[in-house]
Amino acid sequence: MCGIVGYVGNQQAAPILLEGLSKLEYRGYDSAGLSVRDTDVDMKIVKAKGRLKILAEKTNDGQALEGTCGIGHTRWATHGEPSKQNSHPHCSDDKNVVAVHNGIIENYQELKAKLQRKGYSFYSQTDTEVAVKLIDYYYKKYLGTPIDAINNAMVRIRGSYALAIMFKDYPEEIYVARKDSPMIIGVENGESFVASDVPAILKYTRNVYYIGNMEIGLQIPLQLNAHSANG
Ligand code: GLU
Repeated sequence: MCGIVGYVGNQQAAPILLEGLSKLEYRGYDSAGLSVRDTDVDMKIVKAKGRLKILAEKTNDGQALEGTCGIGHTRWATHGEPSKQNSHPHCSDDKNVVAVHNGIIENYQELKAKLQRKGYSFYSQTDTEVAVKLIDYYYKKYLGTPIDAINNAMVRIRGSYALAIMFKDYPEEIYVARKDSPMIIGVENGESFVASDVPAILKYTRNVYYIGNMEIGLQIPLQLNAHSANG
C-alpha cells in the first residue's frame, strides 16, 4: 500500500501533488501517476514506471499539466506487474470516472466477470481498474450522484481501499472513500487536500480530518478563511 495525494484549490495542482508524493516515498513504490483537470477540460492522466523523478521530468515538475484539481498516486503493485499500464490513476474508457487506490480488492475477479458481462473491457491487470469501472457502472445505471455510485460499489467490494475519485460531470470535486486503509482530508485558506498520510500535506496544513472507516467524503474548494474541515 502506497501513497495518495489530492488537491483542489486556486493553485496549480500538479506541483503540489508531486511534492506531496515525494513526502510519501519512504513507504516504497514501483510507479507513479497524476490526473489533473481544469473546470471544463478533460482529465489529463500521466503515469510512469519507476521513480517519481521520472514523472516529474515527464511533466516538467508538474508545470506541463494545467489544472487546479487533481489526484496523484505512488503504487506498490499487488495485482499486476509494475508497469505504466498498471499504474494509477485508472479510468473508465470514456474518462467519466478517474481514480487512485491504495489497498486490495479481494473479490475483483468476480466483479470483473460481472462487468465483462455488462460489456466492460479491461486494459490493465489491476484490481483497481475493476473498482473504477464498477463505480462508473453504478453511476450510469442509476443516473444518481457520485456518492450514490460510490456507495453502491462499496456495498459490493470486499477488501481494503482508500480511494480518491474524480467524476467528469463534477469539476473541482474529489470524492474519497476508505475501508481499512488510511486517508485524511486537510483544509487551509480555501484549499482542500487529501492524503494517505500526514507528511504529504504537512507543509500546507495542520487542520486535518481523519476519514472514518467506511466513510465517504467530498473535497471542494472552500471559501477563503473557512474554519472547519468538510467531510
Ligand atoms: N492493488 C492496487 C494495485 O495493485 C493498489 C496497490 C497500492 O496500494 O499501491 O494496483
